[in-house]
Amino acid sequence: MSVPKIVILGAGYGGLMTAKGLQKELNHNEAEVTLVNQHSYHYITTKLHEPAAGTSHHDHARLSIASVINTNKINFIQDRVTAIKLNEKEVHLENREPLKYDYLVIGLGSAPETFGIKGLLENAFFIRNIDSVRMIREHMEYMFARYQNEKKEELITIVVGGAGFTGIEYVGELVDRMPELCREYDIPLEKVRIINVEAAPTVLPGFDKELVDYAVKYLESKGVEFLISTPIEECTEKGVILKGGKEIKAATVVWTGGVRGNKLVEESGIETMRGRVKVDEYLRAPGYDHVFVVGDSSLVFNEEERPYPPTAQMATQQGQHLGKNLAALIRGGEMKPFKYMPKGTVASLGRKEAIGVVGDKKYVGGMAAFLKKVIDLRWLFLLGGVSLVLRKGKL
Ligand code: FAD
Repeated sequence: MSVPKIVILGAGYGGLMTAKGLQKELNHNEAEVTLVNQHSYHYITTKLHEPAAGTSHHDHARLSIASVINTNKINFIQDRVTAIKLNEKEVHLENREPLKYDYLVIGLGSAPETFGIKGLLENAFFIRNIDSVRMIREHMEYMFARYQNEKKEELITIVVGGAGFTGIEYVGELVDRMPELCREYDIPLEKVRIINVEAAPTVLPGFDKELVDYAVKYLESKGVEFLISTPIEECTEKGVILKGGKEIKAATVVWTGGVRGNKLVEESGIETMRGRVKVDEYLRAPGYDHVFVVGDSSLVFNEEERPYPPTAQMATQQGQHLGKNLAALIRGGEMKPFKYMPKGTVASLGRKEAIGVVGDKKYVGGMAAFLKKVIDLRWLFLLGGVSLVLRKGKL
């Protein structure tokens, strides 16, 4: 007897949690579950700013997928999705025959949003995955190595575009890395420039003002320069050109200014807003009852009809919920509506400093940094229990 085929695209927070949920809920003969991901590993996106700055090795931000799922229950396919064919109910892959599905879960994450800024895609770096952060680190170190021969200030100038969550966490990490990097390349620390450029009128838009002030004061005390209300108009091989025409020469430009949904979703014909799908209460794509979307590819609105920001916290909760709902659906039961329960947000400012809100309490400094580490450990626990926490976690 044939069983329903569930295909999950992407082993990020949303996809992996859905797979883990199905693995727990379903018996062997109830469904055929296949997880597709382009790498053999899951990368812990929320830690990517660390290897991007070089404060930790990129292996600390990834886990083998086979080590966190039960491959007797979930078929894992390492391949790149090239197209989603909704009418044919199939997914096209780079290196294999198309995969047929009865139920599809899209968790393909995001892509950089460039807002049409000229030259950004060609000349800036992006904190996206293990490959991209390895390149940022290598590039930055090579620029520092060249400095002694060429003595050009731009070689040791780093522009970070965007002062949202990712931008601020990355700048915090750079601040931690600089003393060691400067020692290694015999460069006086005060010569290095880290410039954080933001178009919005504030750093960390949407965050509590008191916490934002703490973050800015701390980072400025470490030499970070903030250019707020300052849109970047163009990114060139030499640096960035700001609105009004001023040029900042910088050999390293890292763009963190926003994300949009994975373009495969747009290309599939599902209705999207900036590449993201406004899902219904069961996380389904409009018009496609058998297609579910989780994580950064989805868009969930709050009671005031404002979209929640794309976060790992959202993706995780969606995946956990969808795993249960899909199991119910397959057994002929009823799905439950998804309700996001924000638990708080903590932004790191390097290893020992952070700001955050958990429940209705605000935290700064060492306590916030500790909470951030607990949040990271929780993700490991959800994926692989205590043994994974002991193997991979660090406080
Ligand atoms: P992802 O985790 O991005 O996973 C998508 C998966 O799909 C990846 O494995 C990718 O390889 C795979 N994939 C993509 N395209 C293809 C393809 N064509 N074929 C096959 N596989 C494909 N959120 C928080 O809640 N808290 C934080 O502290 C936080 N910090 C962050 C710090 C940084 C530096 C960054 C960049 C993000 C941070 N976020 C944070 C946001 C969070 O990481 C994302 O919202 C989250 O990763 C989204 O999960 P996802 O499952 O949608 O996608």
